[in-house]
Amino acid sequence: MSWLYKAALFLGRHLPRRAISFGTRTFTACYHAVTDDPPAHLRHLYRPRTVREFESDIEQLLRMFTPISADELVRHVRFGQNLPRRSMLLTFDDGLREIKDVVAPILMRRGIPAVFFVTTGFIDNRGMQHSFKASLIIDSVKRDRSGQIRRAAERFFARDGNSHAEVEQAVLSLKYNDTPLLDEFASQIGIDFNAYLREQRPFLTKDEVVSLKREGFEIGAHTVNHPKFAHIPLDQQMTQTLESLEYVQREFKSTLRLFAFPFSDRGVSRAFFEWAFGEAGIDLTFGTGLLQDDISSRNIQRCPMERGPTDAETRVRNVWVDFSVRRFRGCNQIQRV
Ligand SMILES: [Zn+2]
Repeated sequence: MSWLYKAALFLGRHLPRRAISFGTRTFTACYHAVTDDPPAHLRHLYRPRTVREFESDIEQLLRMFTPISADELVRHVRFGQNLPRRSMLLTFDDGLREIKDVVAPILMRRGIPAVFFVTTGFIDNRGMQHSFKASLIIDSVKRDRSGQIRRAAERFFARDGNSHAEVEQAVLSLKYNDTPLLDEFASQIGIDFNAYLREQRPFLTKDEVVSLKREGFEIGAHTVNHPKFAHIPLDQQMTQTLESLEYVQREFKSTLRLFAFPFSDRGVSRAFFEWAFGEAGIDLTFGTGLLQDDISSRNIQRCPMERGPTDAETRVRNVWVDFSVRRFRGCNQIQRV
């Protein structure tokens, strides 16, 4: 560990809360579900915050930052309007049912604005992303005491030169374009994704999103069916973006054009952003690159908040350490080709 990193780590741990600053940048947090009992489609992907942890995160964040709305951020980034010092925007990806059940009531009680980014093809439980399918398959593998499903998975996912020893790793490493493989294996072992969608209802319905919008939350687009952009060509990136944005504007009467990249915006080209902020008329796009500066101030990098049991204040302090070291070294700028 370098002396610089050690010094930043010491400061990150010991500085008073209000001294943890990201300059004029808005601290933009990214969450998904909040639940005490992670459902099978999330259980093997990340650890959602429990209700108590989330409430405590909000307390901590409010002690460090002033919450703002997406509208304020748009007016700041696009038209130079002032923001409070140490501002924060909360965002939630994937349009999950827990938004309405848990998150929105907590935020409404405190009058905190938020953006909910919905994957438009999954609203009303019409489908699910490949990573949820992978989590459901892993759940079956782990719950099967006979070991038959594990052996079947090893045989199935070991083909095509897949050298992963651990079947969980192999399943989780499958990409958007591998969705047919997940579908094929699920049907072999008797997992019915459609029945799961009907029974568990992982996603918000259209009516629920309409009422969230009516309650004052902002709705943004998160593609049609959740591909990682690094894994699809530019024309598909554009179609996924436009179709989901148009759906959000049509169905939820959103006047802002906000878009969050599924997983991450790593590898997304300069050409995409030129199109997004030009012809496509998008106000802001959102990645998950921890307060790095980008080729356009209209691509906002957010902080994923679901890192194990780490509470929000510790997370902010850890992110500040990385941010400060990168800034000191002059490498807080994302390079795009
Ligand atoms: Zn997502």
